Amino acid sequence: MKIHHIRNATTLLTVGQKHRQKHRQKHRQRHLLIDPMLAEPASMPGFKLFGGGRRANPLVPLPPETEARLAHVTDVVITHEHPDHFDKAALAWIRDRGLPVWANAMDGKNLARKGLEVHELQNGAMGMDVEIIPNRHGRGLLGWLMGPVSGYYLAHPDEPSIYFTSDAILTDDILAAIDRLKPDIIVAPAGSANIGIGGNILFSMDELVTLAKRAPGTIIFNHLEALDHCPTTREGLHQRMAAEGLLERVRIPADGEDIIVERGLSETPRARPLENAHPGRTPGLQKWFTAKLAGT
Ligand SMILES: [Zn+2]
Repeated sequence: MKIHHIRNATTLLTVGQKHRQKHRQKHRQRHLLIDPMLAEPASMPGFKLFGGGRRANPLVPLPPETEARLAHVTDVVITHEHPDHFDKAALAWIRDRGLPVWANAMDGKNLARKGLEVHELQNGAMGMDVEIIPNRHGRGLLGWLMGPVSGYYLAHPDEPSIYFTSDAILTDDILAAIDRLKPDIIVAPAGSANIGIGGNILFSMDELVTLAKRAPGTIIFNHLEALDHCPTTREGLHQRMAAEGLLERVRIPADGEDIIVERGLSETPRARPLENAHPGRTPGLQKWFTAKLAGT
C-alpha cells in the first residue's frame, strides 16, 4: 500500500494491484484522495481565534509534484466538511473531473447539494471492509460547535488495513476500535489544534503517546505545520516519540513523502467491521456555522 502524504490531512492512498484489473474488476487499483485541502497558501482565514498567533491558512504550499500525482485520482474520500479537509479549491477540482466522492451518511446529503456525485462510505464500498468510527472533535461547548466527525477504517483484501482517525480527541470509542479491528496502519492528526480557548480540538501530545502505544502496527502522524492553530511541530513530536521509545512504529512524513507498507501484521483473519456502526449524531446548524466561520 502506498500512502502519499500531501499536506495537512490530505493524503493519496493507492490500493490494489494493477495486474488484477483485467480479471477482478472490484479489486482494480484505486487512487483515493482523502480529505483534500488544495488551497493556495494564505487564501483562507486563520483558525486561531484567541490568544494570538492567528495567521492566514494554509501556511505552506502544496508540494511541487502534487498536480502530477493528483492526475491519477479515481475516488475522493471525505471524513468531514471542515475547510482543512475539504475546501473550495477541492470542490472545484472534484467537480471539474466528475470524480465520485465517498462520505459517511452524516455528510453525504450536504455534499450532494454542492453538485458532487456522492456515494455512502459503508461496509463493502470500493470492495473494502469499512467501518465508520464516531469521534469527538473537542470538549464541551467547543466540541459541540465543531460538529460530529467520524474516522474511517478501510481494509482492502490485498492490502494492510488502515484506520484514518480523522480529527478527534482521544475517546474510548477510538481505543475500542483499535483493540477490536487491530488496524495495520493508523493515520492520526498530530497538530494538537486549539483555537486559543476551550482546550484542544485534536489529540494532545500525551494522547498521541497513548495512541502510538496502543497501535498494533505503524502509526502515521499528519495534520502538522500547515495551519495556524496547530502548534505541534514535526521535530517536537519526533523528540517526544523518541523519548517514549516509540520511533520504531511512528512515521511523521514530510509534505510530499511516500510511505510504503507492504503487508499486514499477521495472516490471522481480520475482525469484521460492525455493520451498523453509526456515523454519529446528525449535525445541527452548528457544523454549518463552524465551516462558514472558517471561510468555506
Ligand atoms: Zn482538521
